[in-house]
Amino acid sequence: MNEHSFAVLDKGFVRLDAYMADDLSVVNSARVSFAKFSTELGDAERGLIRFLMKNRHGTPFEHNSFRFHVKCPIFVAREWMRHRIGSYNEWSGRYSKLEAEFYIPREMRTQVGKPGHYKFEPLESQIDNQLAYDSMLASCEHAFETYEYLLSIDVAKEVARMVLPVNTYTQFIWTANLRSIMNFLSLRNAEDAMFEIREYAKVVEALVTEMMPVSMQAFVENNRIAP
Ligand SMILES: Cc1cc2nc3c(=O)[nH]c(=O)nc-3n(C[C@H](O)[C@H](O)[C@H](O)COP(=O)(O)OP(=O)(O)OC[C@H]3O[C@@H](n4cnc5c(N)ncnc54)[C@H](O)[C@@H]3O)c2cc1C
Repeated sequence: MNEHSFAVLDKGFVRLDAYMADDLSVVNSARVSFAKFSTELGDAERGLIRFLMKNRHGTPFEHNSFRFHVKCPIFVAREWMRHRIGSYNEWSGRYSKLEAEFYIPREMRTQVGKPGHYKFEPLESQIDNQLAYDSMLASCEHAFETYEYLLSIDVAKEVARMVLPVNTYTQFIWTANLRSIMNFLSLRNAEDAMFEIREYAKVVEALVTEMMPVSMQAFVENNRIAP
């Protein structure tokens, strides 16, 4: 893992593959309205970014680009790819054999409360926790054995993969601008987001904050509402 690459969950990662991003691009995208251009980020520029965020002038936050390489369980990728404003390419289980890599939470959780107000708490019994872990592991191992068996008798990859569980690791490339990423973070680095996608969203947030700190500070001060 390098300075822009972080391990997530047991076998996943988020890596910032490339970026074209700085806070001045926000300022200048707004100032072009008056045919003005800034070359330095001073107090006036910081104030303008806060103003744009607060008043939901969203388009100046679109003139940047972040390209991430992500390795995560399929169920996380499925939630992630609901975020349509961006571009995706994913590892193909039709064209190449998938690795026998799957995610099993070490701490099982239970769901309490009513729909819309669920809380997730650790399973009380350590014994049940271990039994749940063991049965998930056995089930995943069995699924991958079946996958191997199907491939060994020449069943096509696109068919054999149908037995694999949604906790199988996948990889994808995601390119998006900060406006869309703030919307993603607002929803996925939030208390009611699923624990696993939130772990990824935290890393995404740290990486975009490093590149566009003033914009991200304004986002946080604006109650994490994307403009
Ligand atoms: C806690 C949580 C629970 C969820 N539960 C469910 C669930 O039970 N079932 C389910 O199906 N989904 C569920 N979702 C997914 C959710 O409905 C969204 O699909 C997902 O969060 C992507 O958000 P988005 O549409 O704002 O993002 P993007 O697709 O990236 O869109 C960004 C913004 O662009 C605009 N936009 C994009 N496309 C359109 C469009 N077609 N028309 C108008 N405006 C558009 C909107 O302003 C949108 O906010 C859940 C999400 C969360 C965070």
